[in-house]
Amino acid sequence: MEKKEFKAESRRLLDLMVNSIYTNKEIFLREIISNASDAIDKLCLMALTDPSIGLRRSDFEIDLAIDKEKRTLTVSDNGIGMSAEELEQNLGTIAFSGSAGFREQLKTETPENASEADIIGQFGVGFYSAFMVSDRIDVVSRKYGETEAHRWSSGGADGFTIEPAQRGTQGTDVIMHIRPDGEEKDEYSRYVREYPVYKLVKKYSDYVRFPIKMLLPRPKEMEGSTPEDPKFEEEWVFETLNSMVPLWKRRKTEVEPEEYDRFYTENFDDKNVPQKVLPISVDGKVSYDALLYIPSKAPEDYYSDEFRPGLALYSSGILIMERCEELLPDYFNFVRGVVDSPDLSLNISREMLQHDRQLKLIGEHLEKKVKGELEKMLKDDRKAYERFFKNFGRQLKLCALEDYGAKQEQLQDLLLFWSSTEKGLTLLSEYVSRMKPDQKYIYYASGDTIEAIDRLPQTEVLKDGGYEILYFSDKMDEFVADMFRKYADKPFRSVLDGDLGLAPAEKKDEALYKEGLDFIKKTLGEKVDEVVSSSRLKSHPVCLSSGDGITFEMERYFKAVGQDMPVKAKRILEVNTDHAAFAAIDRTMTANPDKAAKYCEVLYNQALLIAGLPIEDPSAYTDLLCSLW
Ligand code: ADP
Repeated sequence: MEKKEFKAESRRLLDLMVNSIYTNKEIFLREIISNASDAIDKLCLMALTDPSIGLRRSDFEIDLAIDKEKRTLTVSDNGIGMSAEELEQNLGTIAFSGSAGFREQLKTETPENASEADIIGQFGVGFYSAFMVSDRIDVVSRKYGETEAHRWSSGGADGFTIEPAQRGTQGTDVIMHIRPDGEEKDEYSRYVREYPVYKLVKKYSDYVRFPIKMLLPRPKEMEGSTPEDPKFEEEWVFETLNSMVPLWKRRKTEVEPEEYDRFYTENFDDKNVPQKVLPISVDGKVSYDALLYIPSKAPEDYYSDEFRPGLALYSSGILIMERCEELLPDYFNFVRGVVDSPDLSLNISREMLQHDRQLKLIGEHLEKKVKGELEKMLKDDRKAYERFFKNFGRQLKLCALEDYGAKQEQLQDLLLFWSSTEKGLTLLSEYVSRMKPDQKYIYYASGDTIEAIDRLPQTEVLKDGGYEILYFSDKMDEFVADMFRKYADKPFRSVLDGDLGLAPAEKKDEALYKEGLDFIKKTLGEKVDEVVSSSRLKSHPVCLSSGDGITFEMERYFKAVGQDMPVKAKRILEVNTDHAAFAAIDRTMTANPDKAAKYCEVLYNQALLIAGLPIEDPSAYTDLLCSLW
């Protein structure tokens, strides 16, 4: 029998397969099954247009068979089949679709700069991938319309033979002689065991549109067994392994909500049913089906580096990538699910993905869908949105910070902040719609908890004036405000800021308090930059403000990150001259200046505490307080 040589590029690819340098070997089964499915598709299409063929869709199937003794795994189809010439042409050369991409790559990249393992990873290398797990492959095929069959056989790089063979009907058997195990236990033997093969079919080929059948052992209850003492015996059943019609291909109205939920809990490592299910079906410039989920809880590792985002990407029901990150922007990376498009090539690489036009279009569309769904939730079910925001709001804020501009536009109307007047979460747009006619700024106050912020003396005058304040209890909030600067042309402004843009209160007669204020300044010396009579305090005696420059939050932040250069905010001590504490100083400063000085110290330290700044000498402060008893 004449031995034929593989064409040069094929030999190179084959060498790679035979030497099996690619780690994800299991994809070979996906490739062989997808060839079988393509072959059936071709004949099916012919049968559709030519009734004399006399075959119906339901006549087609793909059968898997395992022979443990001979150590073979066989994939059979009753599709179009191949003639002797086609066997030589198709399996002897890399010439077609996916493999052609590989050829291009081999041509353009020199071996030095392209890792061949990478190339294999990028391209599903089709039929040859079976050599990663087989030391010999026989292909017995009979072309539709012919009576003769042929056997193509190859042990790898040494070439292949073609000889006449027998086959009852049209179609192809790919008989893979599985390699002996290497160092790793069960490295190849798993491909001649039913259960692992079944798992691979489920993983990669569950949605192939023709039944994939295999004999599987099933426990069968034996006669004479009782419920307390069941006896089982194995029975072999020819079973369909794949579910064929993917959930996302079924009409929304025909799927029970539980089916959507179950698909999620079974496939996405999450016991909790999702908060939201989004089945999407698009037929247009680009066609695709998608099934997206918003989880009801953030995964444990969500805000860590461990978290791996991405949607599963299918091309006509065949899995091409488990986690494709390119489909959704970072700020929606909590979305799980699948995308299936017939417009995508099976052999798409990660690098190609970034430039793939179809994928870009799908991505843009999905982003709009997710955003639309969140907006709808905001409008129709505020409670649900707040639950969502509790899980993933931080991610939206983080992303808003990352890249000012485009993302602010996208995200600003999805963010919620606590409102002093609503006593709950509010949108910036809602805040702005409630602003008073003379109000220039969006006010905010920061602190550790809502309660602590609510007690800040600086919020008093705004609250009394009926102004709404956003309470930033998440560290991130303040950075977001800082990044945004404005919303709807209204600048953000901290309640600690020297200028709150309020109409000046009726002028107090400064002269009346001058002596008292001067005394305080003299007592505190360098500790404060100014001592002024405050217009914003009602029940509290003092507060610190920082003027226009560096704020106390910034000072705290720079201290926390260990900035070398000391950054210090200006300290303006604002005194409530209507308060009993000021009156006490005013009263005692001449008769008992020592005692009045102590009052000044106490007030200053209180102001520091309220501003969230450390008091300089805590034990001196407590001694001071005790000395006043
Ligand atoms: P690709 O499927 O990307 O074209 P392959 O190397 O997997 O590349 O297969 C090469 C060609 O061999 C296919 O294009 C097809 O024409 C033919 N072929 C492979 N498997 C079968 C099969 N089971 N039945 C019919 N033709 C097949």
